[in-house]
Amino acid sequence: MSDRPAKKDSAETPRAQRIYKEAGGHLEARELTKEAMNDRAKAVVLLSGGMDSCVSTAIARERQGVSNIALLHASYGQLTEQRERRAFDDIANFYGVGQRLAVELDHFRAIGGSALTDKSISVPENELGAPGPRGSAIPVTYVPFRNAHFLSVAVSWAEAIGAGAIYIGAVAEDSSGYPDCRPEYYRVFQELIRAGTRPETQIEIVTPVITLKKSAIIRRGIELGAPLHLTWSCYQNEDTACGACDSCLLRLRAFAEAGVPDPLPYRRTVSAGQ
Ligand SMILES: [Zn+2]
Repeated sequence: MSDRPAKKDSAETPRAQRIYKEAGGHLEARELTKEAMNDRAKAVVLLSGGMDSCVSTAIARERQGVSNIALLHASYGQLTEQRERRAFDDIANFYGVGQRLAVELDHFRAIGGSALTDKSISVPENELGAPGPRGSAIPVTYVPFRNAHFLSVAVSWAEAIGAGAIYIGAVAEDSSGYPDCRPEYYRVFQELIRAGTRPETQIEIVTPVITLKKSAIIRRGIELGAPLHLTWSCYQNEDTACGACDSCLLRLRAFAEAGVPDPLPYRRTVSAGQ
């Protein structure tokens, strides 16, 4: 896991030498296969349609080039899945990215256990960090182990198309405190990719905004000309953002801290300090 894709092995590196050895000395063929398997410039970018993933897409585009990014969207039976899908399409169209994959992980609706996927659990309003089930410190909007499902799809696609990086817009500190947004989670997942893919496959998880404050993410997005006006953050409304759920509160606070107006209209806005 890093905030930048690592340089891939050259023929001189220990990994390449090991591949050479494992291949019984057929270096040329093996190296050709290896080159064919991975394109260091190509990246799969997870784009939910929210602000953090939009800015991560802008960063990936800047680093990799627009023709090298492949955009992945996963809906998961969440309350706002149609609106988020629209945000994905709008942002992908804005950048003119042709290589796209949208998957539907409907099993999350059947699994439930989160205010985002279970209609019997209400989305907390006007209370950042409201406790989760059974007094858990993790908010009830946490979707159990969701990001592993997203990453698994991303790794499968990246390996199939020979991409060398996966960008994900997880934010660790200035966020809701979901356990699958912590740097440690991505470090461990990186090991899983190494253990669970072809030996010649090299895919680096890139988390370009994980340590940034939300206001810094907005500023970075503005610097890069990211289409923040096309993003969607509200957890519960698909027409006009509610202005009261955790995601709206975090977004509004971040825009206030960044000193720029949020381009989205809200049903109502609460004080930015909440
Ligand atoms: Zn909202």
